[in-house]
Amino acid sequence: MTAIENQITQLEAELENMPLKEALALVAKRFPAEVAFSTSFGMEDQVITHIIGKNKIPMKVFTLDTGRMFNETYEVWSTTANVFDLNIDPFYPDAQEIQNFVNQRGINSMYLSVENRKECCRIRKIEPLKRALKGVAIWVTGVRAAQSINRQNFKLFEWDEAFQLIKFNPLMHWSDQDVADFIHQNNTPYNKLHDQGFLSIGCAPCTRAVQFGEDARAGRWWWEDSKKECGLHETKVMADITDPELTQQNDIHS
Ligand code: SF4
Repeated sequence: MTAIENQITQLEAELENMPLKEALALVAKRFPAEVAFSTSFGMEDQVITHIIGKNKIPMKVFTLDTGRMFNETYEVWSTTANVFDLNIDPFYPDAQEIQNFVNQRGINSMYLSVENRKECCRIRKIEPLKRALKGVAIWVTGVRAAQSINRQNFKLFEWDEAFQLIKFNPLMHWSDQDVADFIHQNNTPYNKLHDQGFLSIGCAPCTRAVQFGEDARAGRWWWEDSKKECGLHETKVMADITDPELTQQNDIHS
């Protein structure tokens, strides 16, 4: 077993049944200045932000502003920053790259091909994410197993091959109801689009409300027959690296 695998196994055993607040505080203390939480202001991200903000847990909080987000998302961003007196560090696409892309392929070219869509995601999300995660050892995310079938193989802690760091998914085992209960019981700010049938909220051109019974990711890139992932959480879990099904999962999520 490698040193990283050992570290992941130990973290998993230590934090598996720890309450969210204590788990986030412990990770922040153990990896000072090397832990970062990425938020896209979805319900689960708001749970984590609430805990970090209310308890002043020393952890960098950042978001990827793609430039194509819903106004409701900017509203919840602003409200959250004010309510918790919290800086949410924005990362933007490279100006020249996105200018070239739009000039060459068009402002809504994501509808024309998967290649265009992936290139748009690369410029607006993946490249800024690389910058945001520079120097980060532990990446905290709001990923949950219940969000989609693709995410059921994710773990509490896992090695992210793409970004060469440990990913911590503290809400991995939370249900939809757990998240909704937390938000309502704690009066946590949330994106009002959730009240209109939007479960997973990304960029405005690529997100729509879902029908009753559809999984949370069904409203993302709905015109594509793909795994509904954009590349942000592409992961090969070290413990499962020999599993051919997993190692073929080279597509991602946001
Ligand atoms: S989700 Fe859509 S608009 Fe946003 S970066 Fe990806 S393709 Fe572009």
